[in-house]
Amino acid sequence: MNLPFAEAWKIKMVEPIRKSTRQERENWLKTANYNVFQLNAQEVYIDLLTDSGTGAMSDRQWGAMMVGDESYAGATSFHFMRETIEKITGFKYVVPTHQGRAAENVLFSVLVKAGDYVPGNSHFDTTKGHIESRKAFAIDCTVDDAKDTQKEAPFKGNVDIAKLEKVLAEHNDKIPFVIVTITNNTAGGQPVSMQNLREVRQIADKYNKPVVFDSARFAENAYFIKMREDGYQNKTIKAICREIFSYADCMTMSAKKDAIVNMGGFIATNKQDWYDRAKVVGIVYEGYLTYGGMNGRDMNALAVGLDENTEFDNLETRIKQVEYLAKKLDEYGIPYQRPAGGHAIFVDAPKVLTKVPKEEFPAQTLTVELYLEAGIRGCEIGYLLADRDPVTRENRFGGLDLLRLAIPRRVYTDNHIDVVAAALKNVFDRRETITRGVKIVWEAELMRHFTVKLERL
Ligand SMILES: *Cc1c(COP(=O)(O)O)cnc(C)c1O
Repeated sequence: MNLPFAEAWKIKMVEPIRKSTRQERENWLKTANYNVFQLNAQEVYIDLLTDSGTGAMSDRQWGAMMVGDESYAGATSFHFMRETIEKITGFKYVVPTHQGRAAENVLFSVLVKAGDYVPGNSHFDTTKGHIESRKAFAIDCTVDDAKDTQKEAPFKGNVDIAKLEKVLAEHNDKIPFVIVTITNNTAGGQPVSMQNLREVRQIADKYNKPVVFDSARFAENAYFIKMREDGYQNKTIKAICREIFSYADCMTMSAKKDAIVNMGGFIATNKQDWYDRAKVVGIVYEGYLTYGGMNGRDMNALAVGLDENTEFDNLETRIKQVEYLAKKLDEYGIPYQRPAGGHAIFVDAPKVLTKVPKEEFPAQTLTVELYLEAGIRGCEIGYLLADRDPVTRENRFGGLDLLRLAIPRRVYTDNHIDVVAAALKNVFDRRETITRGVKIVWEAELMRHFTVKLERL
């Protein structure tokens, strides 16, 4: 008999979690204005809000934390982190930051001006926020396949090269760089192929533009390249990562994702002029160059996490768990962005709640229903998150409207996943009775989903 698949780790420390009653959840969610970001964590049973900073560190990471060097300048922890980043990415200049958006802030302060255009593949919300707050434009050049949630394609995160070339030709002198997000979070945690990265590089070279990778989940992207792209089956994840970054001039990193730390980020590049300019901004916003928003112990944990999570077994354990949830949803007929993404399942809310009009935010409505059903916290990645058009101030209904169930790394067992799938099935079974959604009663101008106040209709 073939032995079944099992996790590449065992559990050394546990944290109790608690169930609640429907009545408790009704009260809590009302107090939270039907925005799950406003819930207290102890009001949540299984928390799939995000996989960002919510992973479980390994014994090696905790061990490394104990020997962090907290010197203000020149800490060994910084050098260890910088060397690890260089080994994995090939980038030698590293600006540490407190998280991914801080890396964006520092880098974009140097590179993005009012009136600029920054083409890419479904810019993440903070990336878009840092572009639009500088009165520049984020131009989405993702392949059309990404919008068809039911189409099975191996690399739905790809950049559409023809769309990119059109933007490069039209706005050439207003483009500071091209940005590619790996994996493509907003399109459903979908990977970008090596061939696509190579083509982006070629077209950017043709127009003499630098390329930045938003790299939060680059290791998961490398796993998909190994599993799905010809010629990579026999390459190690680390070798694939080196090739990935050979096509970029610079990366921004949210270490809260694929470096499996609770907080941290960085910019890495080989462009000395960018480094020299980013250094200045980094010191102002983040801190001195050898800690920038992190403790020495954080940088040690980050380095070990990056090293561990660019190994196949760790990534396989993670991605198989996401696939496990996907198989359950297949069994129940619940539509989600296919194939399963690297860090999450994205349920296609308008296909489930067909009676809820888009103006009433189907994905947010499904998020609310799932929480009320079983205390499971997902996250709307849809029309609320899309914000309003900066010029017309109209809601942007052009993209997908998804309920994201993000799986924290090394945190939940497959039994928890069974509970999530069953709760979603219960909501799915009564979908015809859900006819009204939610209404906005207060919203911020930018990144409104974090603080929006809603009413149930
Ligand atoms: C999380 C994330 C960011 C922002 O990083 P933070 O650490 O949350 O500030 C940027 N881009 C992508 C693709 C992300 O997933």
